[in-house]
Amino acid sequence: MGSERVVVIGGGPAGLAAAAAVADVGSAVTLVEWAPFLGGTPIAENYAALTPNMESAEVAMGRMIDRVTSNELVDVRLGSQVAACEPDGHGFRLELSGDGAGPLHADAVVVATGFQHFDPGRETQMYGYYEFPDVVALQDLEAMLKDHHVVRPSNGQPPERICFVQCVGSRDRQIGNEYCSKVCCGIASKEAIEVRQQLPDCKVFIFYIDMRMYGYWENQIYWPAQEQYHVQYVKGIITEVLQKGDKLLVRGEDTTMGRPMEVTMDLVVLSVGMEPSLGTRLMAKTFGVAQNKYGFIDAAHAPLDTVSTSRPGIFACGAALGPADLEDSVSSAAAAAVRAVAHARSHQPVGA
Ligand SMILES: Cc1cc2nc3c(=O)[nH]c(=O)nc-3n(C[C@H](O)[C@H](O)[C@H](O)COP(=O)(O)OP(=O)(O)OC[C@H]3O[C@@H](n4cnc5c(N)ncnc54)[C@H](O)[C@@H]3O)c2cc1C
Ligand code: SF4
Repeated sequence: MGSERVVVIGGGPAGLAAAAAVADVGSAVTLVEWAPFLGGTPIAENYAALTPNMESAEVAMGRMIDRVTSNELVDVRLGSQVAACEPDGHGFRLELSGDGAGPLHADAVVVATGFQHFDPGRETQMYGYYEFPDVVALQDLEAMLKDHHVVRPSNGQPPERICFVQCVGSRDRQIGNEYCSKVCCGIASKEAIEVRQQLPDCKVFIFYIDMRMYGYWENQIYWPAQEQYHVQYVKGIITEVLQKGDKLLVRGEDTTMGRPMEVTMDLVVLSVGMEPSLGTRLMAKTFGVAQNKYGFIDAAHAPLDTVSTSRPGIFACGAALGPADLEDSVSSAAAAAVRAVAHARSHQPVGA
């Protein structure tokens, strides 16, 4: 082990994987997380089961957290963030604020500050997220599934008909998010399966523009959702959700049949996309690294180097780089960790 230190910012799946990988190869690592707990969005948003194996998110993330907190090479600073970064010899001098305040030397930095869910209140279409209690988002349903208590928020009763509306806040030129968020087709299908497991009498529909299942998810989630759990996929565009009596009226167009569509539902779930988190935007500024037009950190040498930023010595991984599932997030974390350790050990001059 050398005397080098890598600082990882963000204690979600990517940051935990990066910190563990840095320690595995014998370098010291400080993990800076501004929340009072580790685990990232899957813990903060109370995810139920994770794709593709439906393991409890809490159990799976608990394993990752233990691996990091039990390693003596890892120094965890919760409730802390990097307030400033200055060049410092071959590395950087970071100023931490919050619970772990004070200066810190880093020979290399990995930014793993993740994403936030698209706010459906910004949607140009009329989905009524803030108007109607029975219009919820993917993460709201995750929390209900985790508690085994899927109910209509308006009356506390289990729903008989649920629909998912895909691509909310993604693939939308009007709001400037032209990109596909990659995970929401799979996550909606996974949640649809969980609903059918917990409420076998509930009818579940997914309204989609086109289904974009990611790699093996096609076989692991999409076909089982249809064939085993009888989730009904309807190709269509939803333009409006209205309250009608104690039901929700969902309006749009069935694009396969080429005709207008009006259906009533008890619960509408908006499949919101991924946007850069506030922390990702802040850290990009603090470290002076380039962002793409959506605010995610730019991988400066993509496609063959996906973790280097525009500033030597600063690497990024996970959903801070753009929409990513867990497998992508931990894979890029391992790559960023190796590059950060190599950089820290090489004593290359870093950019100012
Ligand atoms: C509803 C939903 C369900 C999902 N379920 C699955 C699934 O089942 N399977 C799957 O593969 N993927 C799933 N995903 C995707 C998965 O959530 C992401 O791939 C994963 O969380 C990305 O990990 P990350 O560490 O990059 O980011 P995050 O999980 O967002 O973690 C980022 C961490 O950084 C911290 N942070 C942010 N800014 C700062 C700062 N400035 N200073 C210090 N700390 C900071 C945050 O507090 C957080 O702890 C789901 C996504 C959604 C929307
Ligand atoms: S993954 Fe599916 S729901 Fe998400 S943006 Fe892409 S096509 Fe739309």
